[in-house]
Amino acid sequence: LRTKPGPTPVASLSALARLLSSLAVLEQRDGKLNHGSLGAVTAAKKLGGSITGFVAGGNIKAVAEEAAKVNGIEKIIAVDNAAYDKGLPENFAPLLVENIKKGGFTHIIAGHTAFGKSLMPRVAALLDVQQISDITAIEDEKTFVRPIYAGNAIATVESSDNIKTITIRGTAFAAAEADGGSASIEDGVDPKAECNTEWVSENLAKSDRPDLATAGKVVSGGRGLKSKEEFDRIMLPLADALGAAVGASRAAVDSGYADNSLQVGQTGKVVAPQLYLCAGISGAIQHLAGMKDSKVIAAINKDADAPIFQVADVGLVGDLFDKVPELTEKLNKQ
Ligand code: FAD
Repeated sequence: LRTKPGPTPVASLSALARLLSSLAVLEQRDGKLNHGSLGAVTAAKKLGGSITGFVAGGNIKAVAEEAAKVNGIEKIIAVDNAAYDKGLPENFAPLLVENIKKGGFTHIIAGHTAFGKSLMPRVAALLDVQQISDITAIEDEKTFVRPIYAGNAIATVESSDNIKTITIRGTAFAAAEADGGSASIEDGVDPKAECNTEWVSENLAKSDRPDLATAGKVVSGGRGLKSKEEFDRIMLPLADALGAAVGASRAAVDSGYADNSLQVGQTGKVVAPQLYLCAGISGAIQHLAGMKDSKVIAAINKDADAPIFQVADVGLVGDLFDKVPELTEKLNKQ
């Protein structure tokens, strides 16, 4: 008995790639595409296959046109309805599901943002598939890598579901280039699902400094700062001298030294800037979970045995009340 030779591995891989079709869920705010959400397109590129972008909201045309220019996207599905402006997961999930069913997508990818985190598990439940959250790498079309136990273990998970609903860690997938593409734009289906949740209002923290989640440089302060006044007096001039965003440990936030939105760590923001410079932070595992992927970690602490020095590329043992102003002064003189 002779069997026909099978396809070569390369041929079968590209045949598979042709069958994959990803839907990247793109975020918008006030009629502007959120470029942070373009990491979903990068993840879809890693998978291979066709890439469609999804946007929804009132007067969505401008956002859809902006998204159509994103490198790698072949088609944009846009739903024009102001009911989706604020990204309420209660009506956005059924909207997305209807469009997934119509488009026959194999992978649905969103950022692991506040929006993606509350939307995608609902989508997975409605599709009766397993949600795959906060991935940092893609091994193949069904195998994904995700940190667990606050980053202390790395799990490789495999899904046999026919549709994979995935959120990606923003620091692991850089945003796709915002230009170079010329996708077609198509109207999506709008189920106009009833929504028992009403958007009432929001209070956004306003800051002239760079956004903590996406900043290239972050300076972060901990309990060692001792008070809000000292946190502001010591850390803010350093941030300004470096053009950096400000972060804080949970101890500093809980003690009222810094705003909740500045918390870095397991229960705060996950950041991976080029430079993470921290002072008066011991380096608890829950803090490291939010910053240990930073390119260069610099730490100032008076305790030479502080665990932060185990992950720091550059360490300075000393009193932050002397060292930080000294550093700020030197930076300002440059
Ligand atoms: P400390 O641990 O008290 O450290 C202060 C440091 O400042 C010390 O190392 C000390 O040597 C140094 N210091 C003091 N004075 C000076 C000085 N004059 N000059 C130089 N150095 C000085 N923490 C987070 O940060 N983010 C999270 O998201 C987070 N999530 C958590 C989730 C859970 C479920 C739990 C249980 C904990 C979480 N924590 C989180 C808390 C975490 O365990 C630590 O308690 C916290 O990170 C400690 O903050 P800290 O380093 O500022 O304070």
